[in-house]
Amino acid sequence: MALRSETLAVPGISPFTYVSNPGRVLFGAGRKREIAAELERLGCRRAFVVCAPDQKELALRVATECGARAVFGEAAMHTPVTVTQAALSQLQAVDCDSLVAIGGGSTIGLSKALALRTDLPQVAVPTTYAGSEMTPILGETSEGQKTTLRSCKVLPEVVIYDVDLTLSLPPGLSAVSGVNAIAHAAEALYAHDTNPVISLMAEEGIAALGRALPRILTAPSEIAAREAAQYGAWLSGVCLGSVSMGLHHKICHVLGGKFDLRHAETHAVMLPHVVAYNSAAAPVAVARVAKALRRAGAASGLFALNRALANPLSLAELGMPREGIAQAAEQVMKDQYSNPRPLEAAALLSMLARAWSGEAPRGE
Ligand code: NAD
Repeated sequence: MALRSETLAVPGISPFTYVSNPGRVLFGAGRKREIAAELERLGCRRAFVVCAPDQKELALRVATECGARAVFGEAAMHTPVTVTQAALSQLQAVDCDSLVAIGGGSTIGLSKALALRTDLPQVAVPTTYAGSEMTPILGETSEGQKTTLRSCKVLPEVVIYDVDLTLSLPPGLSAVSGVNAIAHAAEALYAHDTNPVISLMAEEGIAALGRALPRILTAPSEIAAREAAQYGAWLSGVCLGSVSMGLHHKICHVLGGKFDLRHAETHAVMLPHVVAYNSAAAPVAVARVAKALRRAGAASGLFALNRALANPLSLAELGMPREGIAQAAEQVMKDQYSNPRPLEAAALLSMLARAWSGEAPRGE
């Protein structure tokens, strides 16, 4: 008979499944200089560089350094299919054999959309904390509809985290982008398919971001703080790409799609409220969020972090109309979603009303 030793048992461990996504990660200052070598490792010589309009100068420099064939500088939020098609025509016209994405989640989204259609290998060089580079997830918009898919085809082969590229990210954008990353880790801690390895990464990711973001606000050029934030963002991105997200990601998806709200800001406003909504149903996970943030409560701690970072606190200030509260709640209720606490219409309405007006979340 197998004996289970109480002294050796790891608390909270039960049968679990752990799947790790393949990928090579280079982390550290100055490592963008290795893009050319990474392309060579992949056997590629004719890269197609993608970026957003305001990062074109950087992308042109990178393109020169790695001998790229072309630069496409029109990446846009939520990956519009019309933009992808324009990029695809250019990519095919110049006969490229690889993709280099340098920018935030919008740019990495465009690269993933191109990889889906061409199967070309990708080197992703993120400059925000959104985490898309670590996920096999792609959200695309066409005629006002956002659809999301999961495919290994869109997962970048190589990711280069070069802290130098994050120094120009304005403190305000860094703060909302960082809380966006915390949201991935927080939801991973209570995901129905989470596991002890992902939970470790989630807790470490939240702790690194929680320490680094306030420092970035006052000292945006401090390398140690920027490195800690990027490390936390990487871990949180792994969480996002490995286990199922819950109510928070669902609500942000609905709010972003319905009212065209900015992605990272919406995540920052909603996170304390959704954690409060789930706290009684997932007490262990929520306690780990609080512990990582070194706060007494997770929801109140996240709200205080938003305050300290001067992040937006209300959906109203992001431009959502008051009538949107009922519309969003109805849309979220339409398809049930995996979440620790069942979706309850009245509780969702009251949570969205608090988030709309910028009140503190209800509960810890
Ligand atoms: P973003 O990529 O839209 O960037 C926001 C702005 O910041 C842009 O104007 C960009 O040019 C600028 N910027 C980026 N890095 C900069 C830097 N270092 N210095 C100065 N300016 C810089 O924003 P985001 O929040 O990174 O990404 C949001 C998008 O990513 C959304 O479309 C979202 O759906 C998607 N996303 C997808 C996943 C996924 O797994 N599929 C995960 C997270 C986010």
